Amino acid sequence: MPAKEGCHPVSIARPRPTLAVVGGGVIGLTSALAAVDAGHRVTVHDAGTADRAAWVAAGMLGSLGEGHPGEDDLLALSAASVRRWPDLVARLGDPTVMAATESLFVAASSADAEYLANLAEFVWSRAPRSQDDLRRVDLAEIRRREPGLSSRLHSGYLVVGEGAVDNRRLLTRLRDALVGAGVHFVDERVGDLDDVDADQILVAAGLGTRSLVPDVALHAAKGEILRLRRTRWSVAQPARVIRARMHGRQVYLVPRDDGIVVGATQYEPLDESDAAPEVGGVSDLLADAVDLMPGLRTYRLVEAAAGLRPGTADGLPIIRRVDDRVVVATGHGRNGILLAPYTADKVLELLTDGWVAAGELSSTTEGVEPS
Ligand SMILES: Cc1cc2nc3c(=O)[nH]c(=O)nc-3n(C[C@H](O)[C@H](O)[C@H](O)COP(=O)(O)OP(=O)(O)OC[C@H]3O[C@@H](n4cnc5c(N)ncnc54)[C@H](O)[C@@H]3O)c2cc1C
Repeated sequence: MPAKEGCHPVSIARPRPTLAVVGGGVIGLTSALAAVDAGHRVTVHDAGTADRAAWVAAGMLGSLGEGHPGEDDLLALSAASVRRWPDLVARLGDPTVMAATESLFVAASSADAEYLANLAEFVWSRAPRSQDDLRRVDLAEIRRREPGLSSRLHSGYLVVGEGAVDNRRLLTRLRDALVGAGVHFVDERVGDLDDVDADQILVAAGLGTRSLVPDVALHAAKGEILRLRRTRWSVAQPARVIRARMHGRQVYLVPRDDGIVVGATQYEPLDESDAAPEVGGVSDLLADAVDLMPGLRTYRLVEAAAGLRPGTADGLPIIRRVDDRVVVATGHGRNGILLAPYTADKVLELLTDGWVAAGELSSTTEGVEPS
């Protein structure tokens, strides 16, 4: 209706919606950044690094190693998230967050090579890509690209565009970007969502989500991981992520500025409160890593750690609305860093729907098509 003569139309500014993010791991911070960029006023509540899987992790971003036969949905989510990473790194304004841009899968024996061939076949059939992006390489090419690797390997696959981030630098840059955008941090554990004052709440507290949203079922998958520092007598670290299958066991080497991250074991812990790395896991990782890259003997072992991955029964993350105020994003298992930008987009969709039409409930990731 046109404004009456002599009257001025009054524009009523809608207040920016407030969002409290509970959990300052990779899922909480990446989602917080998407929300603040979309106009929400955001506060992050976090209990600290002791419970944070994202601090311990290796930071690999790859769909080939992450969607095994039978895991079609996870492969689709992984591929959708890998595509989003360059934009996230650009938003953070620090290209050194990206630690590698490709992966070399290698097999120690013909049986290991057959396992990798099945994996590649599955990925090719579900997420087709060009020969340049995913192709088989022989030992001569492996050694030409990565002279530090063992001369006794069988063969492998080179995957372009699937690398790794430096997860600790990533968390620092995410926090810097959020502080720069005016986000307030409350460095305290939240005991009850009723105590949190905000229009909407995102619970992205990893395994801590269980005590805040009781119907979220998660289990812990413990994993040991090592950090090795190069010395001036050492061979150079690989230029790309090395993912090896060594006589039936997996080990990976992920480059950092000053060395290598070696990972990782995965098993159900007997006692979740015991975060110490187990000797058996550490010794298996070291044995396989030195077998894969003999020059690692001169590196320094500067950290042996263990973390708890928040896992779900079907291996898929839980990204859904709980009620008209609460959204949950957790259960990313071994892929939380990889899946962070995809998750942030889906969380934003849920928050926006919730704000526009409070009370209208969305469901889980199953209803959200990867794009
Ligand atoms: C050994 C290992 C290697 C891994 N390698 C990779 C990899 O290469 N690539 C990859 O994609 N993923 C990897 N992961 C998995 C990845 O680390 C997790 O999937 C990811 O960190 C999950 O992110 P999150 O934000 O949900 O949880 P977290 O990173 O665990 O963060 C949860 C945060 O919530 C906080 N919190 C908990 N409860 C509360 C509360 N009540 N109030 C306030 N704050 C709370 C915690 O303090 C913590 O900061 C690895 C994990 C491990 C253990």
